[in-house]
Amino acid sequence: MRGRVLVCGAGGFIGGHLVKRLCDEGYWVRGVDLKHNEFSPSPADEFIIGDLRDPDVVRSVVEGVDEAYQLAADMGGAGYLFTGEHDASVMHNSATINLNVLELGREAGLAKFFYSSSACIYPAYNQTDPDDPKCSEDSAYPAAPDSEYGWEKLFSERLYASYHRNYGVEIHVARYHNIFGPEGTWSGGREKAPAAICRKVAEAPDGGEIEIWGDGKQTRSFLYVDECIEGTRRLMDSDFAGPVNIGSDEMVTIDQLAGMACDIAGKRLRIRHIDGPLGVRGRNSDNRLIRERLDWAPSASLRAGLEVTYPWIAEQVAARELVSALHA
Ligand code: NAD
Repeated sequence: MRGRVLVCGAGGFIGGHLVKRLCDEGYWVRGVDLKHNEFSPSPADEFIIGDLRDPDVVRSVVEGVDEAYQLAADMGGAGYLFTGEHDASVMHNSATINLNVLELGREAGLAKFFYSSSACIYPAYNQTDPDDPKCSEDSAYPAAPDSEYGWEKLFSERLYASYHRNYGVEIHVARYHNIFGPEGTWSGGREKAPAAICRKVAEAPDGGEIEIWGDGKQTRSFLYVDECIEGTRRLMDSDFAGPVNIGSDEMVTIDQLAGMACDIAGKRLRIRHIDGPLGVRGRNSDNRLIRERLDWAPSASLRAGLEVTYPWIAEQVAARELVSALHA
């Protein structure tokens, strides 16, 4: 056994994949989340259903572990984070989780923490040009994230840095950029762009139409979940605290992403652009720092990740349609 770790947010998308990886590596893993993973049973040695906003829950889950991966957050895609409707709960819930896990974890003697921050911390003023967004780690200040989600992440980055400075706990902070893959949320309002687009493509009949928010010319990069986990593990095993980008630097427009999904599905679909919550105009991961400090950077193509993710989402859509046909 390599050590005892706590994964907060183990019932979620990235947390679920991380638990599998840590178990494969021989760690003893305790997962905690508000819910079980919807898509596959967790191989965690112990899985606690609990609310990390509650200090008593946190006190009990930090007992007897050496290190923690803190991925729990009130989280969603643009349709959840950029409408303004969930701002108070996003800030309150996620900040409370981080305050509790760090303070009560430190009191229990945990010496090492991983924290998943986000590309959403980067200033909106550097992401207005879709062809040339700036997201190097040193461009975070003067701070001007375009969402309260980003402000909470920035606050929590500083919280982890303060605990390192004042209490000497080891911290590793990653800024994830748009992670996608199987077993991610694909419906219900919290899904992110790649999953939402794959779902729309899977639902549409060949020759039909899908809706895309905005003019489709906004740019992003998308990182396949396996590389996110690889980067997370490498960062945690390194002597680098970060914050560091963990993202892909293959930037595409949202229309290109939709085109790729159609191509993989073998469907010809028209794209109709409609109004919707958008976020910044352009974003891409700057991978110079991760290459320099970890001697590694993500390298898989978006296409390769979508070729695994699209069939998984198409299967979920087909299963849902079968269930609703049976109930009709
Ligand atoms: P997710 O929503 O699938 O996972 C988060 C998990 O946290 C959920 O299972 C949720 O139930 C749990 N949670 C929320 N509140 C909780 C509470 N009070 N107590 C216990 N558990 C609670 O999201 P994800 O995509 O797996 O993201 C994981 C982390 O990575 C989050 O911190 C997120 O902000 C960050 N991140 C993700 C992305 C991405 O593209 N997915 C990008 C940047 C940053």
